[in-house]
Amino acid sequence: MERKKDYYEILGVSRTASQEEIKKAYRRLARQYHPDINKSPEAEAKFKEINEAYEVLSDPEKRAIYDRYGHAGLTGDIVDYSGFGGFESIIEEFFGGFGFPRVKRQPPRRGQDLYYELSITLEEAAFGAEKEFEIQRYETCPNCRGSGAEPGTTPVRCPQCNGTGEVRHVRETFLGSFVTVTTCPQCGGSGEVIVTPCSECRGKRKIRVKRTISVQIPPGVDSGTRIRLSGEGDAGDAGGPPGNLYVTISVEPHPYFRRDGSNLYYELPLNIVQAALGAEVEIPTLEGKEKLVVPPGTQPGQTFRLKGKGMPHLHRNGRGDLFIIAKVVIPTNLTPKQKELLRELGKTFQAGT
Ligand SMILES: [Zn+2]
Ligand SMILES: [Zn+2]
Repeated sequence: MERKKDYYEILGVSRTASQEEIKKAYRRLARQYHPDINKSPEAEAKFKEINEAYEVLSDPEKRAIYDRYGHAGLTGDIVDYSGFGGFESIIEEFFGGFGFPRVKRQPPRRGQDLYYELSITLEEAAFGAEKEFEIQRYETCPNCRGSGAEPGTTPVRCPQCNGTGEVRHVRETFLGSFVTVTTCPQCGGSGEVIVTPCSECRGKRKIRVKRTISVQIPPGVDSGTRIRLSGEGDAGDAGGPPGNLYVTISVEPHPYFRRDGSNLYYELPLNIVQAALGAEVEIPTLEGKEKLVVPPGTQPGQTFRLKGKGMPHLHRNGRGDLFIIAKVVIPTNLTPKQKELLRELGKTFQAGT
């Protein structure tokens, strides 16, 4: 452990200095190093040091212990200097009237992330789209600008902790004071209480609002693709940043196409004559109808591939393919005439192949 600096040295006074001299020295140094005034990086540590020295030397009982035992007499369980708790009252004494607000705030907290499932069509997934949807989220109350207090009023210093946000329990022992510090139950550690709550948010600092969100869908998305909208989630607390809004894409089933990654599949119904003799048929594509020539003797399940007519790839250029699967439909409700013709055809099969 590094050797602790002598308290008299810190305040620049002699060991026989009077209480008045100690107070004077402290006042001069505290003003010089107060972090609100002195922005140099070592000011805060120095300020803490000065306060620690003053707390001991200004208290005749502690000073006596210090003079006799040095730092060892004051360490351990006896005096707790952690967390600035030890000199709050001193600061108050000197700076309370000098315009140094001492309000300890709660640490900033990031707002909650929000999630939304957005349904889109296959065509929108293929070509991209700008979509709008509504969400509800918490935003900083515009009426009180997040203070929680009705405009024209201000939060006041918490009476229980006197604005420190902490409650100190002091137990006197023959060696000095034993101090425990806990978060103030009345203000929750903020150091402030609201006397006249904001009429809009009832002092909650945030309100729930409905917002229309616009999102750009990139071409090639699939069900499960997640789009992050930074900062579109709930507002943060105590000056913390807002959360994000995550939009999860859900692509609706398509009446014709089945999708597998960037490939599309279409089942093309053919009657037995078209399959046997070949035909020129119309097929749907993402861009609209197209002609496809089916060769004679097309078999059920036979597949034709249309390169580059599938879905765009999400993270690279190019597109998948469109597969046309022949589905030969066997007729069920034949007219007598059609039956007759088929029987004639059947005879030729039996005779020949
Ligand atoms: Zn408000
Ligand atoms: Zn309080």
